[in-house]
Amino acid sequence: MNRHERCDIVETRLGRVSFDIKPGDDVSRDICFVCEKPATAWWYAKRGRMAHGLADINGQIVLLCEQCFTTEERDGGALIRKFWNAPDLKITKGGAYGDIGEIRDIAGAIKERGNKPTN
Ligand SMILES: [Zn+2]
Repeated sequence: MNRHERCDIVETRLGRVSFDIKPGDDVSRDICFVCEKPATAWWYAKRGRMAHGLADINGQIVLLCEQCFTTEERDGGALIRKFWNAPDLKITKGGAYGDIGEIRDIAGAIKERGNKPTN
């Protein structure tokens, strides 16, 4: 992993991912990065199934709850403020969203419970 001393640019991307979680599986690690409440799945109409929300912050994948995901999608910024622990930080928007498939791949990699991701 490269160590960057430059940290004036933070790239965030939002994505949705479906995990094959069975009853009894340990979901205690599925905590929202922003509010630290359980990051449970919610309905993802595009894929016709339940899916979790996640974000890529400079390559670090974190889970988001529905509320924080929706807020982040609309306003942006909460993620980065949390990431830098800087609640008053001014955010300038820029850039573009990357390929969601890429995020899904990474999400699959971090979600190793011994189950295979379903997508
Ligand atoms: Zn949250």
